[in-house]
Amino acid sequence: MQLKVVKFGGSSLADAEHFKMVKEIVTAEEGRRYVIPSAPGKRFAEDTKVTDMLYKCYELAKKGENIESYFNLIKERYNLIIDGLGLDFDLSDEFVKIKNAFIHHAGKDYIASRGEYLSGLVLANYLGFDFIDASDVIYFTDNGSFDADRTNELLGEILKNHKYAVIPGFYGSMPNGTIKTFSRGGSDITGSIVARAAEADLYENWTDVSGFMMADPRIIKDPKPIDVVTYRELRELSYMGAGVLHEDSIFPVRFAGIPINIKNTNDRTAPGTMIVPETDVYDTDRVITGIAGKKGFSVISIEKDMMNAEVGFCRKVLGVLEELGICFEHLPSGIDTMCVIVNSADIAEYHDRLLNKICAAVNPDTISIEDGMALVAVVGRAMVKNHGTAAKVFRAVAKADVNIRMIDQGSSEFNIILGVNESDFETTLNAIYNEFVK
Ligand code: ASP
Repeated sequence: MQLKVVKFGGSSLADAEHFKMVKEIVTAEEGRRYVIPSAPGKRFAEDTKVTDMLYKCYELAKKGENIESYFNLIKERYNLIIDGLGLDFDLSDEFVKIKNAFIHHAGKDYIASRGEYLSGLVLANYLGFDFIDASDVIYFTDNGSFDADRTNELLGEILKNHKYAVIPGFYGSMPNGTIKTFSRGGSDITGSIVARAAEADLYENWTDVSGFMMADPRIIKDPKPIDVVTYRELRELSYMGAGVLHEDSIFPVRFAGIPINIKNTNDRTAPGTMIVPETDVYDTDRVITGIAGKKGFSVISIEKDMMNAEVGFCRKVLGVLEELGICFEHLPSGIDTMCVIVNSADIAEYHDRLLNKICAAVNPDTISIEDGMALVAVVGRAMVKNHGTAAKVFRAVAKADVNIRMIDQGSSEFNIILGVNESDFETTLNAIYNEFVK
């Protein structure tokens, strides 16, 4: 029997009907032993996710406003689910505790985590599984980063005592016992952590789409699905904006070599996307696995004659970024030029300070910051073996009359990054997609 950890996203737990589907999925296989729920998501387009309702309620309480009526809406979401499932189960005591927490200005993370916590209580009751509070098994360190070693060791031990259990996603606890959440969408990370600790054969991540698409369907019409993708490819694609899975959720399972299967709760028979450690198999018609991209980058361009001979030039420039706590994305350079690509949002407050500090550090001939760049990543493990892929990418972009402002291809050869004007972003993605996918 294969041991599976199954995570269900908010859309898979939005209402009682979805809880019923979840039960059918979980009980269809004996090996689906550990279940990670999100908080209930949207039931229809204009609906609000429970997590967002909790954040809103937190803001109201912070401003000293009366939260009664808004808090009742949150209670109602859960009560509708409990009634719809016909459970003899009641969350009244929990609601009292949470309401008190609002009134006493409990931390934002604690408040946000209650969405998953309550979801977990209901689901455990409905499935007849044990409930393990994530705050007892997922640990953060004092500086707020996830404590992978401690969690893996202790969670692994605890799971041995529970054949079937529900563990809420999204949160854990700090060394002092307070609750801390991962970033938004973080239940994916919890699923991955539990899969590693349980030494699972597979991490199934159930959502509302049948896996990853080769490109963003909001930009490319009906993109083809990706059947198989490696962790490395996925990391590149999700970093560059391909949604579906939280980008940090790859690390725990990747570490343990456990594959992830993205599945659709509303279309159970669809195979979804398999994310695997390594594979030589690829679709010979396509060569590329996917295309993703993001707008909102800025280019810091620095020129100085004889820069190439000035030892430590790059280090000094990057030292300024480090001092201001700014990460950089890419670093294309020429003989006497150096460009640093950064997230525009990260430098918004620092424009002038950044320029002044770099000038003081390296005394350049010219320096400028230009906003409005979009990055596009063309990713494919098969690119290593297929000559001419880069030429094909550039031909497609040239045919679409788009000017490429930056090119970056790492030595791993499975990723080509292009920088284009934001206004050319959609055209670029379409041109590349249509060149490779017939
Ligand atoms: N409920 C949280 C959010 O909406 C975490 C999650 O769903 O993964 O971000």
